[in-house]
Amino acid sequence: TTASALEDFRRWLASQGGAGEGGKAFPAAVPEGLGLVAARDLPRGEVVAEVPKKLWMDADAVAASDIGRACGGGGLRPWVAVALLLLREVARGPGSPWAPYLAILPRQTDSTIFWSEEELLEIQGTQLLSTTAGVKEYVQSEFDSVEAEIISTNKDLFPGGITFDDFLWAFGILRSRVFPELRGDKIALIPFADLVNHSPNITSEGSSWEIKGKGLFGREAMFSLRTPVDVKSGEQIYIQYDLDKSNAELALDYGFVESNSSRDSYTVTLEISESDPFYGDKLDIAELNGLGETAYFDVILDEPLPPQMLPYLRLLCIGGTDAFILEALFRNSVWGHLELPLSPDNEESICQVIRDACKSALAAYHTTIEQDEELLESENLQPRLKIAIGVRAGEKKVLQQIDDIFRQREEELDGLEYYQERRLKDLGLVGDNVSVNHGGHWG
Ligand code: SAM
Repeated sequence: TTASALEDFRRWLASQGGAGEGGKAFPAAVPEGLGLVAARDLPRGEVVAEVPKKLWMDADAVAASDIGRACGGGGLRPWVAVALLLLREVARGPGSPWAPYLAILPRQTDSTIFWSEEELLEIQGTQLLSTTAGVKEYVQSEFDSVEAEIISTNKDLFPGGITFDDFLWAFGILRSRVFPELRGDKIALIPFADLVNHSPNITSEGSSWEIKGKGLFGREAMFSLRTPVDVKSGEQIYIQYDLDKSNAELALDYGFVESNSSRDSYTVTLEISESDPFYGDKLDIAELNGLGETAYFDVILDEPLPPQMLPYLRLLCIGGTDAFILEALFRNSVWGHLELPLSPDNEESICQVIRDACKSALAAYHTTIEQDEELLESENLQPRLKIAIGVRAGEKKVLQQIDDIFRQREEELDGLEYYQERRLKDLGLVGDNVSVNHGGHWG
């Protein structure tokens, strides 16, 4: 972004009444691209930007535009509609009411959706690579239908045509700039407020913005952004984008990662095989407990396994003499039993299944954790390489942690207590509660 584009944007904002009340913050060039900088000392909670609805690019703006007229308002997914509005306004050039805003939007972010084939080699073997491919396929299929149904039939709106790369850019802009809660038909680009960058140091719960007015009593709705912490004059204002996103999600959505271990995660996918002789019973039990044929468990570094993972795993591995527990008689209590070890065989198989899966997943990465950590020490790492190393190291650490949990369990198999012993105890037949025949009790 050139200084003059930024100046034009500031002037446009001021003229539209969107400059932030009393000019408390202004847009400026910062290490993250553009950002919001405090014009004076601001206490925590101070409103730093107020953006009137007429400046938003949202569903209402689509409906009022020639895009809205071309699509008859119907059928389009909300994000596709806003993406088309964005591309149409770019195509209109200086004639667009949003022109000064469009001129300062980045041409790309470091999101993995924009990486070259060569850059993607750095994340081979990762879940991030397959998610990225999946997202691009999704965008491609949306593009194909929009191309056939709207772009090709409305050549006047897009005189220069629209390429897949244009459409992917619009998708990436939305994904990186829309405030997470503004999902679905609330999706909106909010000029100026969307310049605020993310800081890992801001960990306060609750969002830093709200929509005021909501158009009630003829008042125009207003997007209002607050600073979550005190900021000194001339310093950048930051918010927390989303505490729940993993590094892979941050990399995909925004194009950055954190070094915080709670962002390192790996999604374990488990599945009841259709060739399992007890497929029907197992599926039934899984569904009774809110799970399905396939279940996804997000494992986070330094945190315990998700609570339903072990019961589901034990269910998957039930076979042989343990199968009695699948009988309808037990249907309502079986999950409770599966929360604890069922039998030595069953417990051994869950360990094997998981450890084999960890081993083969770990073998698909082209570097070790140690190599990654050494690389992360080097200076002047390119941002995309830093993201790649951070994500692949994080995934491996979580896989290693999962493998460790089950290796330890494997070593402890003899000392665990299993279903049959628990049953006998419950019946008072073993252990401390032995109450049969030990005294003149029977007269
Ligand atoms: N910096 C943006 C710009 O120049 O328009 C404005 C913020 S926009 C909502 C989100 C994008 O800003 C991200 O996709 C990323 O490119 C950048 N960004 C925000 N926080 C960042 C951070 N902590 N580190 C690196 N890049 C960041």
